[in-house]
Amino acid sequence: MTIAPSVKGWCPGAYRPMMSGDGLVVRVRPRLARLGRDQVLGLCAVAQEFGNGFLDLTNRANLQIRGVREEDHEAVLEALNTLGLLDADPALEGRRNILMTPFWRAGNLSQDLASELMSRLGELPELPAKFGFAIDTAPVPLLRNDPADIRLERLADGQILLLADGAGTGRVVEQEAAIDAVIELARWFAASTRTGVRRMHRLLDLIDLPSANLGTAPAPVAAHPDPGPLADGYFLGAPFGQMDAAALTQLMTDTGATALRVTPWRMFWLEGATPVPTTDFITTAGDHLLHANACAGAPGCSSASVSTRDLARLLAPNVAGSLHVSGCSKGCAHSRPAALTLVGRDGRFDLVRNGHAWDEPDQKGLSPEQLLSGTQ
Ligand code: SF4
Repeated sequence: MTIAPSVKGWCPGAYRPMMSGDGLVVRVRPRLARLGRDQVLGLCAVAQEFGNGFLDLTNRANLQIRGVREEDHEAVLEALNTLGLLDADPALEGRRNILMTPFWRAGNLSQDLASELMSRLGELPELPAKFGFAIDTAPVPLLRNDPADIRLERLADGQILLLADGAGTGRVVEQEAAIDAVIELARWFAASTRTGVRRMHRLLDLIDLPSANLGTAPAPVAAHPDPGPLADGYFLGAPFGQMDAAALTQLMTDTGATALRVTPWRMFWLEGATPVPTTDFITTAGDHLLHANACAGAPGCSSASVSTRDLARLLAPNVAGSLHVSGCSKGCAHSRPAALTLVGRDGRFDLVRNGHAWDEPDQKGLSPEQLLSGTQ
């Protein structure tokens, strides 16, 4: 039997943080997926002073500070405002769910489209909190497998494609009309959706998209780069999506990076960085932690009865394929099947092969010692 996870209907933001087992989770949404050097250093300082000392990189390319006390929330907002990381209008912050192709260059198409969409957020209808947009208009699409409901991509001949998530084909649009078309499609979703249907692909399982939005096949999605040096900087992975703020501060200094670009792949690009050795981040394609997922677990999350990340680090080198260690059956860290999933329950682990955290386990009640010794 498979039990679908319960999903909260809203996304925490800076103004509207979520309470977790270790305090508030304050989410920062970097505009254009980019933070300048001073913003990175300032955010690291905020995480160290008011949070648990880490920045979490989410699968929507946002950054989270966990462990913030309620009485410190105001001070965190002030610090974010000083860093230029706070929207003037809390309502618009909630709508700014824009996934951005991370390798855009100043003045190019992607920056222009994302800037126009940000300036026109007020024209969008009321949408579910997790409803989002992808500006994926680099020469090849990179974000097709990442969460968004309305996408702008490029075709091989350079034309712009409007694509509703879940539709097999899309519609070619001119640059001048692209954001108009995005808003029009969002309005269609808002007017057409059903109770409890919050995502475009779910709606398209129930009803047909207007035919005007169909007809042109998208380009194949490209693989993102592996960790390592890039032509203009350094591309690194964050183990489990977690960046130690002190280590990141040191890395910014050691590499001379001028900015940080966030991605939804638990990786980040340090612009203008000179690569240096580091043990705090993933620097090579073969690192086992690239295929390991683990949520905060105990004590960070009140739903967990087990700690997760230490076990995942120890197990990852011995697991063929992907590994998911989840503090409970909600499976927050990985919504797709993994070759091996361990699910905390009453201080022990249930084991699922080739499935989700919420699937029926193949084995139950295993201790960390059993898992590490391979005697399960
Ligand atoms: S999956 Fe992990 S982070 Fe999510 S609720 Fe369960 S224990 Fe908490």
